[in-house]
Amino acid sequence: MTSHFPTTITFLLILVLLLSNSASASAANDTGPATPSECDAASLGECYNKPEALRLKLIAIGTILVASMIGVCLPLFSRAVPALRPDRNLFVIVKAFASGVILATGYMHVLPDSFENLSSPCLPKNPWSKFPFTAFVAMLSAIFTLMVDSLMLTFYNRRKLDADGKDAQEAVLLRNRIIAQVLEMGIIVHSVVIGLAMGASQNPCTIRPLVAALCFHQLFEGMGLGGCILQAEYGIKMKAILAFFFATTTPFGVALGIGLSNVYRDNSPTALIVIGLLNASSAGLLNYMALVDLLATDFMGPKLQGSVKLQLWAYLAVLLGSGGMSLMAKWA
Ligand SMILES: [Zn+2]
Repeated sequence: MTSHFPTTITFLLILVLLLSNSASASAANDTGPATPSECDAASLGECYNKPEALRLKLIAIGTILVASMIGVCLPLFSRAVPALRPDRNLFVIVKAFASGVILATGYMHVLPDSFENLSSPCLPKNPWSKFPFTAFVAMLSAIFTLMVDSLMLTFYNRRKLDADGKDAQEAVLLRNRIIAQVLEMGIIVHSVVIGLAMGASQNPCTIRPLVAALCFHQLFEGMGLGGCILQAEYGIKMKAILAFFFATTTPFGVALGIGLSNVYRDNSPTALIVIGLLNASSAGLLNYMALVDLLATDFMGPKLQGSVKLQLWAYLAVLLGSGGMSLMAKWA
């Protein structure tokens, strides 16, 4: 399974490359088409204070790292509690909460961000205002996720034909593991981008409240991802890698933003298009996976179908998870 992991790193490297490329491109070519004045230069504002902003950003790197670590490890350590074994009711509730968080990440964070990016006044009206690119890319991404999902199922069902039931169990486990890794991929785009926005800002008045908001954001999202990693039943080493990787993405985004803060502008056309399209595709992926692979699988499965009471408790957990994560959308 570790073979899937390098793809995540490759993906991050490509993101960095694209963004640094967009930074140098926008620095070299400031005379684009006629755009509103706020697109031309980073607005300095009355709160502009570079050393103070840097101090806050360094604090943010540390605190966000700790908050994400706690969030993602909380569900993982719950394994020590006997009531949280996969066959217990409480496990189903924790998972429903986690699925709710992932669903809200897709609908309330990533999708609106993409709409905001791609409908920015800093982009040329043609074609960006002529066609709903966000919705289109999110739809294609959902179809693509379904395609990968169904083709993989076919592949494992075929292999299962010449084996016994033990292999079927293995297929379910493998599927859960792939879900956990793909979810992490879908989440990190957003995690890097919110860190990047903070890292590139020189305004302590906006950074200060954002430090706390991002800590809660990552704590909550970490719990969502942790719940899905828990289900994948990884060994301690792989769990640690996935947790560490999630925890470092936002601090990495902040550091990247600091490093690029002289050249990077989050309203340059290239940055808006790259981030907008990435957000749209991860929104499609997250929405599909949260609804189909996580929620529908559990709610239509034998465990929850067997008990109305448990189903209602699970819905409460979904509402709590998605509600909490929706609240975070107020800040980042
Ligand atoms: Zn967010």
